[in-house]
Amino acid sequence: MTTTSTYTGRFAPSPTGPLHIGSLLAATGSYLQARANGGRWLVRIEDLDLPRVVPGAAERILSTLEVFGLHWDGEVLYQSSRFPAYRAALHQLRNQLYPCGCSRADIRRQAAAVNGVASIYPGTCRNGLPAGKHPRALRISTGEREISFHDLVQGKQHQNLQREVGDFILRRSDGLIAYQLAVVVDDAAQGVTEVVRGCDLLDSTPRQIFLQELLGFPSPRYAHLPIITNTLGQKLSKQTRAPALDPERPLPALWKVLQLLGQHPPSELL
Ligand code: GLU
Repeated sequence: MTTTSTYTGRFAPSPTGPLHIGSLLAATGSYLQARANGGRWLVRIEDLDLPRVVPGAAERILSTLEVFGLHWDGEVLYQSSRFPAYRAALHQLRNQLYPCGCSRADIRRQAAAVNGVASIYPGTCRNGLPAGKHPRALRISTGEREISFHDLVQGKQHQNLQREVGDFILRRSDGLIAYQLAVVVDDAAQGVTEVVRGCDLLDSTPRQIFLQELLGFPSPRYAHLPIITNTLGQKLSKQTRAPALDPERPLPALWKVLQLLGQHPPSELL
């Protein structure tokens, strides 16, 4: 019998450190959703931010996924092999891009004065670089776009890009491509139909939908899972010293994430 399912899910870890229980939750959630839909489950190594890549981390992540029984389909895609595709997308968007000469400190200062929120870019270089500034990053002009989508877990979402995010960076001042562009180009190239990931990325999704529309890509469905935090309420990560998963003892961690995902794993597994 041939399956005609087109469901394609993916897990897209950044190789900046080993997997921890928080990343296992996202990986297992997206894996189970793909398998429950008779679909494909892909793995993409997001080694885009070269200065943050830890040597050996990608191999360690892949062997951990194998030990935990999260077997992927097809070849692993490495973002470090995709620069020509990202450059082609930048070229396609060229009429909406502009060089920005602001440093982070400039933006904090200007934004705090203009909109009171230091992280929202106030559009300083949109109509040309002010005298004395040199081009650093490339930003995309968002215009007055209001993006709405229905998240399968978090429900209806809206974001006004200009007001809540500002024109955002597609090529960084160090010449590297920004995550927002790479993820959109790769989700489209890999035919991803549903993105299941942690809700720390919920806020990025409207930017990604905006880029998909401009590039003529279909938008996948989105499901943002709750994230696991430490006792201080911080997302587990390398920065918050989350312990690495123990490949010698996969079952307790798997049992825990299955429970968090609302499944009823048998206690004999432990
Ligand atoms: N690479 C991102 C991370 O590890 C995830 C990107 C995504 O799922 O869209 O946080």
